[in-house]
Amino acid sequence: MTALDDRRPRHGAGPTTAPAHLALAEAHAAHNYHPLPVVIADAEGAWVTDVDGNRYLDCLAAYSAVNFGHRNPRLLAAARAQLDRVTLVSRAFGHDQFGPFCAELAELVGKQAVLPMNTGAEAVESGVKIARKWGYEVKGVLDGRANIVVAQGNFHGRTTTVISFSDDPEARAGFGPFTPGFRQVPFGDVEALALAIDRDTVAVLLEPIQGEAGVILPPPGYLEQVRELCTRHRVLFVADEIQSGLARTGRTLACQHDGVVPDVYLLGKALGGGVVPVSAVLADREVLDVLRPGQHGSTFGGNPLACAVGREVVALLGTGEFQRRAATLGGHLAAELDGLVGHGVLRVRSIGLWAGIDIDPTLGTGREVCERLAARGVLAKDTHGSTVRLAPPLVVTADELDWAVDTLRAVLRELAGGPG
Ligand SMILES: *Cc1c(COP(=O)(O)O)cnc(C)c1O
Repeated sequence: MTALDDRRPRHGAGPTTAPAHLALAEAHAAHNYHPLPVVIADAEGAWVTDVDGNRYLDCLAAYSAVNFGHRNPRLLAAARAQLDRVTLVSRAFGHDQFGPFCAELAELVGKQAVLPMNTGAEAVESGVKIARKWGYEVKGVLDGRANIVVAQGNFHGRTTTVISFSDDPEARAGFGPFTPGFRQVPFGDVEALALAIDRDTVAVLLEPIQGEAGVILPPPGYLEQVRELCTRHRVLFVADEIQSGLARTGRTLACQHDGVVPDVYLLGKALGGGVVPVSAVLADREVLDVLRPGQHGSTFGGNPLACAVGREVVALLGTGEFQRRAATLGGHLAAELDGLVGHGVLRVRSIGLWAGIDIDPTLGTGREVCERLAARGVLAKDTHGSTVRLAPPLVVTADELDWAVDTLRAVLRELAGGPG
């Protein structure tokens, strides 16, 4: 416990410089986020330190982009080595990290080919374009008629096309007109999905576990039935594993829990190791080969630095260590969190090191809980009002998780008017 004690935050000692940093951002940055009032200056593993020297256990991990821990030594070494060689050539030329990255990632995921992009939203956009083109060229859908079925409560990013199929009023209001060609069905409702699919349907696009919606797990058998429907109607099953993928849930891909193999995987977030933005679309040749030179691209997609870091991410995942940690520690976390149900917590959903905790709204909002957690040295993020999401880096220890849950227990007691 000494190590953990050393790393515990020393909050509230001496003058703080955080307010000045926050004021600069308030004055000069777009107000499209409402961050917790924490100003981070450095980080290592599962811990971050703010500009005043306070330490926090990171229980968000940049929405799973930092699965392997902040400044993971192997990822930093790969990045540094590549910085000393070449960082960007554009796709006008080849480079020596590109082929190996695509081959190694394809092998890890079990698909024939990779389209590297940068952000998650770009991977989703690319997936939409590929599915439509596949629909016209391979399935034989009449030009301009393709539709894609998505789930209610989805989160796939922030571009105009991606928000066109969101049902979150905040994500959409004021940003129309929207891209047509999408249909929404309730997540987990296989009958609604069957009714939504017609001969012009080219894809069903789903998060196998809905992250931003609050870690919503599919009902048992749902993903299998989606797979079966897609096969029967010759529709691409596109799995957005940008948040659920790459060891977060205890498997390399969340779909593996259900023994389901989609036609297309979308990856992002942790694929860049918390170092650079790296995303990808993975599919077999029959699908990805609808893209020919000049029809799609990205200046930064598949750049040498991204590929070098991505290769090391794939190598880390190849050891199985992070998947095992997420599975084992996830079981531990779930058991601890269960003890909070009925004590300020209504419900907990979790898989691996990923939990959605529904706070009793009579105690306070998710935001209030996260503010109080931060004041005690635990960083987490609320979603949809009263849910607190935990997604610590997968290098977190059992002791640290226990401490995070104890801290949450104390915050809930405090909100209930107890001694805290
Ligand atoms: C974060 C996320 C995205 C968007 O990724 P960005 O890198 O923020 O564009 C897409 N899909 C899912 C499931 C995500 O969690």
